[in-house]
Amino acid sequence: MRTFEYVRATATQEAVRMLADDPQASCLAGGTTQLDLMKDGVLEPPRLIDITRLPLHGIERRGETLHVGALATMEELAADATVAERLPVVREALLLGASVQLRNMATIGGNLLQRTRCRYFRDPGVVECNKRAPGSGCAAVLGAARMHAVLGVSERCVALHASDLAVALVALDAVVHIQGPSGRRSVPLTEFYFTADESPERENVLEHAELITEIEIPLPPPAALSGYLKVRDRMSYEFALTSAAVLLVLDGGTIRQARVGLGGVGSKPWRAYEAEHVLTGAPATTAAFMDAAQATMGDAWTLPGTAFKVPLARRTLVRELQTVSGVAA
Ligand code: FAD
Repeated sequence: MRTFEYVRATATQEAVRMLADDPQASCLAGGTTQLDLMKDGVLEPPRLIDITRLPLHGIERRGETLHVGALATMEELAADATVAERLPVVREALLLGASVQLRNMATIGGNLLQRTRCRYFRDPGVVECNKRAPGSGCAAVLGAARMHAVLGVSERCVALHASDLAVALVALDAVVHIQGPSGRRSVPLTEFYFTADESPERENVLEHAELITEIEIPLPPPAALSGYLKVRDRMSYEFALTSAAVLLVLDGGTIRQARVGLGGVGSKPWRAYEAEHVLTGAPATTAAFMDAAQATMGDAWTLPGTAFKVPLARRTLVRELQTVSGVAA
């Protein structure tokens, strides 16, 4: 691991200034992604700005919006009373991720900014990685492919976005609040990420020295039903092969509102607008759920090792729609 300088900031603007003063500096929150990548030699920032003392830890409900400080931990958000009552999809996505120890360190801002688990990206011994070294190629397309993405990818990069929480939050139309050298701005999470076929090397809209300060989650109607299903190779401490975040508002047997996020398939957390379109106004039946699932994944770009994800993602979505709506298989 390369030697680096460690600095602690206590005010948000101070952290922004420290980052702006050094184009190579990075910030450190819970460290569960950042330090792993530094130990592996994937990232080598000469200076780390510790932001954990910034006043960005609060979780507060104001009216029908939940405001989540970027430094709240995954466990703190999962334990929040409003999340338990109104956002089961968020609670389930959080508690199905990582381990208790990690969730007590890992922050919400860091979760949204975690880097891909692509083993070729995470091995600096692999020369061809357009994410690490733009223009060098992509070793992953010729290698073991089971954990790669199939949406928003191309032969230039097939890296998967691994956050479970982000899948739930794109479905909920969450908004990211950002503070940087030029002031503050807000970006809908659906517009926050770039896909790997757009730009392997740049994953989101953040500029250097910009910090996520808060995530704003509009609360769904009190009668909304929601949940998160994660399919993985083992039952705990594992990333998703496929996942589905679902929110439904039912009126009798008819679906009035539907929101769907898909995980384990995209180079960014994937909002499945086509499925929502099919579901809205349809009866809450397994036949309608299958039609909605069929409408998704049409743009998948698969490798022999990832082709299984197309039918698996559709089945994951049907199963979660059945669970959330209470419609039997
Ligand atoms: P850090 O590691 O401190 O930072 C991550 C990145 O975000 C860095 O680039 C850092 O500079 C940047 N950053 C952090 N905060 C901010 C901010 N406020 N503004 C701007 N930049 C910021 N996640 C899942 O969703 N599901 C899983 O199943 C899962 N399993 C895991 C298993 C293991 C073994 C590990 C190590 C991680 C797993 N994770 C999983 C990922 C984990 O959730 C993330 O590592 C964690 O949420 C990152 O948060 P952090 O506070 O530790 O971020």
